[in-house]
Amino acid sequence: MRRVALLTSGGDAPGMNAAIRSIVRSGIARGWEMYGVRNGYAGLISGSIALLGARDVGGIIQRGGTMLGSARCREFETEEGRRAALKQLGRRGIGALVVIGGNGSQTGAHALSLMGFPVVGVASTIDNDLSGTDVTIGVTTAIDVALESIDRLKVTAASHQRAFLVEVMGRKCGYLALMAGLAGGADSIVIPEQEVDPETVAEDLRGAYASGKAHAIVVVAEGAGNNAERMVEFFQQNHERLGFDLRVTKLGHIQRGGAPGAYDRLLGTLFGAAAIERLAEGVNGVLVGMVKGEVATTPLAEVVACRKPLDLKMLELARVLAK
Ligand code: ATP
Repeated sequence: MRRVALLTSGGDAPGMNAAIRSIVRSGIARGWEMYGVRNGYAGLISGSIALLGARDVGGIIQRGGTMLGSARCREFETEEGRRAALKQLGRRGIGALVVIGGNGSQTGAHALSLMGFPVVGVASTIDNDLSGTDVTIGVTTAIDVALESIDRLKVTAASHQRAFLVEVMGRKCGYLALMAGLAGGADSIVIPEQEVDPETVAEDLRGAYASGKAHAIVVVAEGAGNNAERMVEFFQQNHERLGFDLRVTKLGHIQRGGAPGAYDRLLGTLFGAAAIERLAEGVNGVLVGMVKGEVATTPLAEVVACRKPLDLKMLELARVLAK
């Protein structure tokens, strides 16, 4: 009887539950015992690990978040922490681990696999900044949530002749802001990968009014140097010269909590099943992701070697289309 554990780590992402369901039931279908770890690597170290049956993962596919809980755990970044985790797994006779999460989580998975333990990663983060996959579980729903807000703000902006700033998540990565801005028809986009000064943003917004638009919207990633606070300060200081107000909406954690859309449920389902298939084939130390439309695996060593770069051509396209 094979025993396999799974955990979700880092920021929660819509579709993680679909992955949990798929991993647990695919494993059970092979006659394996499946163990859920609570709160990511923290639960691995503390031994918060419980057997999961097929019914335990029922009724979750349509829910955002993660039924296992997630956490950020500094202790796991140390070898001592990882040894404590291995001890907990060994004590229960668990022989493999599936890690559902983003960059940091897969770095942890790689570190554990370098210590000789079989690990398979499943790509899931709303940042979509993970190498080895074109798309991650959660990002599509997060973009949809941001878009709904942008669409609503456009309506109210058009009624009051006010410029709106929408701050979306992305501490180091502007993917969410760029895609939400592009698909939402923003007049200006500010991301950490390519800084824009507030004066340029003001020009973009003024340009929107000048070209006859009834609204002016800028989408800003939270991690951009010229973030929402800096923009507001600039617009307040230059209010008379600019001639219009800037109202700020921070979407914050609302972006994470959405019910997963069809695509994220399917990604969770397909990636989860593939993770179990790889383990059954004796393959580990890899990340399951989507490469050119196919579910594919990439060695974790490659995945964690560099963050996936953002396609800045999209920023240029957004600028052209905002005219
Ligand atoms: P998100 O993209 O949503 O932020 P993430 O997986 O990148 O997700 P992080 O907070 O970066 O989230 O990492 C999650 C956890 O992974 C950390 O709390 C830590 O336990 C583990 N981790 C991160 N970096 C390392 C590392 N270098 N070595 C071992 N473990 C790590």
